[in-house]
Amino acid sequence: MASFRFHQWLTCEIETSDGTIGLGDAALAPGLTKKAIDEWFAPLILGEDPFDVSYLWEKMYRRSHAWGRKGIGMVAISAIDIALWDLMGKLVGKPVFKLLGGRTKDKIPVYYSKLYAGPIDVMQAEAEQAKQFGYQGYKTRFGYGPTDGKAGMRENIKRVEAMREVLGYDVDLMLECYMGWNLDYTKRMLPLLARFEPRWLEEPVIADDIQGYVELNQMNIIPISGGEHEFSVMGCADLLRRGAVSVLQYDTNRVGGITAAQKINAIAESYQIPVIPHAGQMHNYHLTMANANCPIAEYFPVFDVEVGNELFYYIFDGDPEPIDGYLHLDEHTPGLGIQLSDKHIQHFEVIE
Ligand code: MG
Repeated sequence: MASFRFHQWLTCEIETSDGTIGLGDAALAPGLTKKAIDEWFAPLILGEDPFDVSYLWEKMYRRSHAWGRKGIGMVAISAIDIALWDLMGKLVGKPVFKLLGGRTKDKIPVYYSKLYAGPIDVMQAEAEQAKQFGYQGYKTRFGYGPTDGKAGMRENIKRVEAMREVLGYDVDLMLECYMGWNLDYTKRMLPLLARFEPRWLEEPVIADDIQGYVELNQMNIIPISGGEHEFSVMGCADLLRRGAVSVLQYDTNRVGGITAAQKINAIAESYQIPVIPHAGQMHNYHLTMANANCPIAEYFPVFDVEVGNELFYYIFDGDPEPIDGYLHLDEHTPGLGIQLSDKHIQHFEVIE
């Protein structure tokens, strides 16, 4: 996935008869998702009551079941569902987390998520810089995989060691593979990485290799995390039932929106598996705030656009900035609290 970039974004607006607009979004394949919404899903919800959100979710899910379920169909449902929750919040004048159960924490601890593999001195300088902001944890990405052999393994280890050198051992360090490894390679890497006390090892193998996740997690050397490329309530329930992950990281943009995410949160809680949704963004922060089983949130620092993770800062206004490693959610901003921004619009080609 070294060349993976996404430099497009889909925003989904739903307007009620009184002119209130709910805003949802989804990244990855926005053009395809837009087509699915325009042609298939929009006619299913136009004229309906946004407060019938569970019914609408079910309607969209079942009417697209023959071709949807996972992938584009569920991404489209996610974008619409997030817009419906934003809409409900705005219509009742409450932040979304208040509709999801309310505040379970005063503020949300976040972990710094960047530290892409590169020259060690550059990575250490970034970690040094980030450390000054007092984050609760830091996630770094591996740059070497199975085709880089034993020498690549050593390069991976050197970088994790370099991160601990800067950050010390009193903060969490998360390790991200983004599906770039395979089962055999990960089995060999796990014992070598254990001494750096990682909080978790993320997505070591491709999302469909659930048995691989099970085997790796059962080794009990480093907690295995994943789920950002899994879809729907039943998909995530399957990961939990099989013990595939020790930390579940569904992506609200893909898993079926806030309606599905809330159901998954309840299932995960019953397994006592913490949920730490993939990516920053307000829909995830509202879910994290409203669920005691969501202990910390991922935070993508604001940077020039690289892989695409940072893109939402240039499209929306309203994402909070962490203070001393914590995010604060306002009690009084209705809905999700984001708006489309035109600050950087000259850099985008807008397709409506
Ligand atoms: Mg990830």
